[in-house]
Amino acid sequence: MADSIIRRTYKFRIYPSKAQTLDLQQQLAEGCRLYNAALRERKDAYRLNRVSLNYYTQANQLKDIRANGDLALANFSCCQDILRRVDKTFKAFFRRVKAGQKAGFPRFRSIRRFDTITFPSYGDGIKLTDKLRIQGVGLVKVKLHRPIDGKIKTVSIKREGSKWYACFSVETKPEPLPRTDQAIGIDVGIESFATLSDGTHIDNWKYYESEQKRLRVAQRRVTRRKKGSNRRRKAVAQLRNIHQKIFNRRNDFQHKLSTDLVRNYDLIAVEKLNILGMSKGILSKQIHDASWSSFFQKLRFKAECAGKQLIEVDPRGTSQRCTCGVTVKKDLSVRWHHCFSCGYQNHRDIVSAQNILSLGLSDNGSKYQVADRLPLEAVCFS
Ligand SMILES: [Zn+2]
Repeated sequence: MADSIIRRTYKFRIYPSKAQTLDLQQQLAEGCRLYNAALRERKDAYRLNRVSLNYYTQANQLKDIRANGDLALANFSCCQDILRRVDKTFKAFFRRVKAGQKAGFPRFRSIRRFDTITFPSYGDGIKLTDKLRIQGVGLVKVKLHRPIDGKIKTVSIKREGSKWYACFSVETKPEPLPRTDQAIGIDVGIESFATLSDGTHIDNWKYYESEQKRLRVAQRRVTRRKKGSNRRRKAVAQLRNIHQKIFNRRNDFQHKLSTDLVRNYDLIAVEKLNILGMSKGILSKQIHDASWSSFFQKLRFKAECAGKQLIEVDPRGTSQRCTCGVTVKKDLSVRWHHCFSCGYQNHRDIVSAQNILSLGLSDNGSKYQVADRLPLEAVCFS
């Protein structure tokens, strides 16, 4: 743990000029063309001769292709990275075939969907000073809203809607946080984003409803407009921007919350999501599922960095059991838990969180205190 190395990504907005934007778009278009050409070659080799090409056969052609001026992707390593991506999708394809799973042949990518190029080794074609030097594009303005801590390994340039980002993948050492000897259980839900075993409800962030509404309006605008028209394309771009904004806000919220939790608790018990099944089932479940699992992912990563423990427990029965062990059946509409046996009463989600905590503690018990209510900054996030 102490000498393990952790990869983390820093994502910064970059502000290319008009001319630079055109250059970036061309780099993506060329990357896409290379991707599809490499895919085509592999497809043909496989269909016609039952040969599967590997990365090196394809990479060895790069020099000639570029010498002929056939490819305007500026950086050589970027090209290699794209061929490696093709290689990866093929390996995954053959793995699925071998395992007898349903496997669709790797597909060609559309220019509109091809939105990332990666510089696989920092310093080769990409360099950060007070601006970001990108080969084939020049010096691009970048907003570094926090310092990069660690050694930069790779940089990806990404298009999201009409915005551009640079993602720095950095190697860093984990930094243990001070121990608190506190443990907490978390129940995720629909009513609140999460409920803690100490009784804290963490609300879904404030703008959830209004942004869902904007999303619906934008969606409707897209469907109303004629396919292939300029106006429709504009509406699609707008829709994509709204999606992106929602994603970013939610991401921010989750980052703040997970940071707070990891700082305050040494052991965090959560539900294992994939066996959650239909137990919380309502219509909006997919949206929530996605946001819970990305939240848990952040928690897991931060706990690992900080030397804390994240424990996933089997959630079955946690909403139907009293902390005394007796089963108290409640359907989803019943929000209050009242135990006929021991008399304990509380909000059902709090009781679930307490059950999740006690399952999490059952192996790791004695050294933890069951937390008193601690202030969480993220609770009031807006
Ligand atoms: Zn009871």
